[in-house]
Amino acid sequence: MLVVAGLSLKNFHPRVWDPSSPFHLPQLQAVMVSYAEFHQLRRQRERAMALGLHAFLDVPPSVRVYLDNGSFYFLARPDQPSLEGYAEFVLQAKPDWYPVPRDFIPSPSMSLAEQRGCLEQTMAVNAAFSADGFVPVVHVSQVIDEYIVAARGHVGFAAKPAVALGGIVPNLLRTPKARPYREILASVQRACLAFADKELHLFGVGGTATLHLAALLGMDSIDSSGWRNRAARGLVQLPGSGDRLVANLGRWRGRVPSEDEWQRLSVCACPACQRDGVTGLCANGRAGFDHRATHNLWVLLQEADAVETHLHRGTYAEWHAGHLDNSIYLPLIGETLHSVTHSSKRDRTDEH
Ligand SMILES: [Zn+2]
Repeated sequence: MLVVAGLSLKNFHPRVWDPSSPFHLPQLQAVMVSYAEFHQLRRQRERAMALGLHAFLDVPPSVRVYLDNGSFYFLARPDQPSLEGYAEFVLQAKPDWYPVPRDFIPSPSMSLAEQRGCLEQTMAVNAAFSADGFVPVVHVSQVIDEYIVAARGHVGFAAKPAVALGGIVPNLLRTPKARPYREILASVQRACLAFADKELHLFGVGGTATLHLAALLGMDSIDSSGWRNRAARGLVQLPGSGDRLVANLGRWRGRVPSEDEWQRLSVCACPACQRDGVTGLCANGRAGFDHRATHNLWVLLQEADAVETHLHRGTYAEWHAGHLDNSIYLPLIGETLHSVTHSSKRDRTDEH
């Protein structure tokens, strides 16, 4: 599963994709930028269109550039960009992967009628942009089965090689008690099976636990900006654990590492820790941010690699129970593992 690192146009550091940077992560294969930022930063938009995104970001040809359409940001904002403006940007800036210009994100608290309204609006955009490289978007809501029927019934959609899935994470992690996650997982699984012949991208994965869920569900790629958001709040990630607060930046609180966790951090093999040890992680200002962000992304990439390896070897079930110490998500992961064991896209892929 490909981990796509979400970037910010407001601060390109740490330059994890750049071989000349001390924070270079050679295993990173893809980055994502959001059209929401290009919409706000008009000069950057023009430059990216003139140069192309690869040259604009100065990423090596081996690193793929994903574009997010910014729909989450544009929810309920008055300054909506035109669909044509986005399409023009795509044509000129040439991202390697890009969704349709807009999708309408349902929330778990919406009524069925409201969720259906989101589906209809999103499917209208999927249909309008079905004749080229735009990746259609589908949301895992209570009307997922209607999405599947609508997608199958549309010739352009059916021919698409890829689909982007939104809405899974909030549905799984913030579900009201009335709708058990077993039921949600079943609908996610139906979506994965319905689009099993397509490359599946899952939008907006936060940390380790959701990365495990995405891999178990057979996603081909995920994107995450959590490595930067956490770093900005003084937080670092540890393999298999929740976030730990290592820099006191005044405003943020969190669980500090135990003695054993400090020990683990002191021998971390990521480029930031190799360079400056825990001193780098604990620093204030830009330096501390760069170290924590690099460390966090490295942990996410390592975790994805470990999950893949264990799934491939058939040792995941045994391994994850001892590896993940996050008691909140363990039952959810166990349930997912159980429910996808015999029918997932991943199993089909493994047959090759
Ligand atoms: Zn590290």
